[in-house]
Amino acid sequence: MSPQTIESPTQGSRQRTRSCATALVCHRCDHRYPLESSVFACPDCGKGLDVVYDYEAAAAHFRDVPAAERPHNIWHFEELLPIVDAGAQARVGQHSGYTPLIRADRLGAELGLSNLFIKDDSSNRPSLSYKDRVVSMSVARLLERGKSEIGCVSTGNVGTAVASLAAKAGVEAYICYPNRLEDTKAQACAALGAKVFQVEGNYDEANRRCREVAEDTGMDFANITLRPFYAEGAKTASFEIVEQLGWEAPEHIVSPAAGGTLSSRMHKGLNELQLLGLAETERTAIHIAQPSGCNPIASAILAEEAEVHPVMPETMAHSLAIGAPGDGYLVIDAVHKRGGTAAFASDPEIFAGIDLLAATEGLLTEPAGGTTIAVLEKLASAGRFGPDETVVAVITGNGLKTLPDHPEKKWRHGIDCKMEAMREAIDQLKATPSLMQTAHEQLQV
Ligand SMILES: *Cc1c(COP(=O)(O)O)cnc(C)c1O
Ligand SMILES: [Zn+2]
Repeated sequence: MSPQTIESPTQGSRQRTRSCATALVCHRCDHRYPLESSVFACPDCGKGLDVVYDYEAAAAHFRDVPAAERPHNIWHFEELLPIVDAGAQARVGQHSGYTPLIRADRLGAELGLSNLFIKDDSSNRPSLSYKDRVVSMSVARLLERGKSEIGCVSTGNVGTAVASLAAKAGVEAYICYPNRLEDTKAQACAALGAKVFQVEGNYDEANRRCREVAEDTGMDFANITLRPFYAEGAKTASFEIVEQLGWEAPEHIVSPAAGGTLSSRMHKGLNELQLLGLAETERTAIHIAQPSGCNPIASAILAEEAEVHPVMPETMAHSLAIGAPGDGYLVIDAVHKRGGTAAFASDPEIFAGIDLLAATEGLLTEPAGGTTIAVLEKLASAGRFGPDETVVAVITGNGLKTLPDHPEKKWRHGIDCKMEAMREAIDQLKATPSLMQTAHEQLQV
């Protein structure tokens, strides 16, 4: 296929990607806007905007360009992503996505599931969380617009993704952190060269204010003004899961939810694979995991309501602590259409989930991952999955990045560096219960 070009008023003509994106459309009122426009919320009804595609053209591209010729990164499915400028695309996310799908046989044995997989976004690059997928779209879009500064507001992982991906693209990053988060996250962003401002208040307050700041200063924000583009990046997780299973869609996906982007856009991604005739994805149910201390989406699903009621977050799982989730209504719709469900986990259960994943699969996840595993365990115990059905749990963040303040030290300390003392320490360690045992005891309560 011959490369097409796009005309840009500032930079002349540029190479075009195979993106089949055609327009932006309001999630609620179907009002359409040109793809090039900078609106990010519908002026008529205030709802967010979705990207629409020419699926016939996308299907033709998929026939023309075989998988072997496609890069193993988030751009593998570039037809179904919103970036049209090949130059911008080449500067972002070249090592993001395509994270491993791990057969979790040891965890599966514990839960009575013989086809359990972990989609391991805790190893995503460059910043070890699912946010590398979505922020890559924001930064690429920013470059497409010819801008050189990007802002964001973060519960933790958006910040490090923006700091890292912006640095690589040569873009200046400004990161707003609510002060209720771990300082190490702000520290990591600053170490990556981003300009960080920590504000008093929680995420929801900071988010609302950043929207005004964006409008006032004209600065683009990765997860506010670039939101329609940001959200599209989340679909890549579902594309990869299905491809990695040999184009056999799983019966179940268990996903954590904060703002609701990941879970609602995996639903969109599954629909698109079906539309393109790449896989039968209608049978895939999406189940939502949230912390008990911040569960507005899960509560609405369980109460069969169509809208979420905002809550005041109170949980150790900071990356899931969004009390007023922007995409909540889309998640409810996705779970409903796919016959899924939702459940939540208390902070002690979340820690037990972290421990169980560590003890069985050797993966250290942050509280968001612990939430997913605790909910996976609950749904398995409740008989929600058939023993041979394929279940994929999405682990979205790395524990080495966000080590939670565990209530107690799990190691022996203050040991004399002498033969006798060290042998004694080993004997005492042999007598202490394993992580597997303690995780089990905690989860069985
Ligand atoms: C942001 C985040 C989520 C949830 O993402 P949403 O798309 O906002 O629902 C889950 N896990 C981790 C680790 C995150 O950083
Ligand atoms: Zn509208």
